[in-house]
Amino acid sequence: MHDVVVVGAGIAGLVAATRLADAGLDVRVLEARDRPGGRLLNHRFAHGEHVEIGGQWVGPTQDRVLNLIDELGLQTFPLYNEGDNLLFHEGRLSRYTGTIPGLPPLVLLDVLQAHRRFSKMCQEVSLDDPASHPRADDWDTQTFETWLRRNLFTNGGREVMRLMTRAVFSGEPCDISLLHALFYVHSATDLDCVTSVEGGAQQDRVVGGTARIAEILAERLGERVHYGSPVLRVVQEPDHILATTAAGNFPARRLVMAIPPTLAVRIHYDPPLPAWRDQLCQRLPAGSVIKCVAVYKRPFWREEGLSGQVTSDTGPVRVTFDNSQPGAPTGMLMGFIEGDEARVPELRDPAARREAVLDSFVRYFGFEARKPVEYVDRDWSAEQWTRGCYTAHFPPGVWRRWGGRLRQPEGLIHWAGTETARRWNGYIDGAVESGERAAAEVRAAA
Ligand code: FAD
Repeated sequence: MHDVVVVGAGIAGLVAATRLADAGLDVRVLEARDRPGGRLLNHRFAHGEHVEIGGQWVGPTQDRVLNLIDELGLQTFPLYNEGDNLLFHEGRLSRYTGTIPGLPPLVLLDVLQAHRRFSKMCQEVSLDDPASHPRADDWDTQTFETWLRRNLFTNGGREVMRLMTRAVFSGEPCDISLLHALFYVHSATDLDCVTSVEGGAQQDRVVGGTARIAEILAERLGERVHYGSPVLRVVQEPDHILATTAAGNFPARRLVMAIPPTLAVRIHYDPPLPAWRDQLCQRLPAGSVIKCVAVYKRPFWREEGLSGQVTSDTGPVRVTFDNSQPGAPTGMLMGFIEGDEARVPELRDPAARREAVLDSFVRYFGFEARKPVEYVDRDWSAEQWTRGCYTAHFPPGVWRRWGGRLRQPEGLIHWAGTETARRWNGYIDGAVESGERAAAEVRAAA
């Protein structure tokens, strides 16, 4: 009998297992894939360089992951952020510096007033219990799209806010409740922090890629981590719990479920999960994102004084960054396909997707972008053990009905994963927080 079984070797599960093993407990981690890291993954190109094809950035106020990076002896470097950014708006390309694109004055004023109102509401939402806000009933019965329609006065302004939503939530504003939008942004400090490079969530990358965090944690846990071991069934007895994989049963005194809710609900539980927990998990669908990277002989856009960052009203790639490795002669452009555009059947075909992505890059950076030396993309909705990214959406009604019990243990089961985080919910930092919290719960219960 083990002390604890952890389901999932993403950052949340690995952090929980590490903290428990450090406290002297006998821990096993059961991981479906043949690697650690979950939504963190390095792709290695044929020419030898790697790129993060999952989560990649860390930034200020993400203290938990920054401390972990330090603890593991890893280092960070800033995202390339020099030169002009590009705005593609109504068929025209223009340059801008800083964070505010050169939009028509009325659109800009509209966005700024919405930004101010939204930011004020955000700071009022409790991170411990968003549904405790006096206006939670009103805010959790409307979608963010409803709020945009009522509170912005120009179509252009609404489009800017929709673009922001896709980039931050990898979903459409109609997918999420207003209360969730407010909680999520407050959880990540504020709107400026989630959308910015310098001083924000896109500021830094990890030398060797964020996957190194998971790899080092897993190396240290050694044989305690079992790969290729999807948990199919969880049986709770009064004094112990049994996790079943194709390779056998793992009995333990406690279990930490460190997988996304949409996957947790696909496991067979005996006795079944209470109705409210099952309903909660059913209502937390993952967002939709395809991350795309093209490698060029050199970062040619820099020669024209461009940062590689684009904001565009035309898809499928509407947001790009310069993802080149520092010191390498090559250049890498990275773009996201997000929300509804990541859901259209035409982009399921890899060849068509590559062409569509390169069309977008050419639109922003010219014909040199047509011929990368290498290209990779990853549709995270197609991944059996992730089924969507960056994280779960809370549609209307969920926070109000069940949100206060999101982290509540179920018998001997403790819940982890970035979706359960208080701070930086949906991010790597939130995954670390959730793993540390679940480990503390298990220790307190022991
Ligand atoms: P996961 O990483 O999903 O780990 C869960 C693990 O459980 C996985 O390894 C999975 O294989 C395993 N599993 C699933 N089902 C089972 C089962 N039945 N049995 C056993 N194992 C199972 N965050 C940032 O902070 N910065 C970013 O720049 C950023 N960008 C992103 C870009 C993309 C394209 C994506 C996909 C994500 C991004 N994120 C980013 C989000 C970040 O990657 C996640 O918040 C974080 O990695 C989640 O960690 P986790 O441990 O909670 O979950």
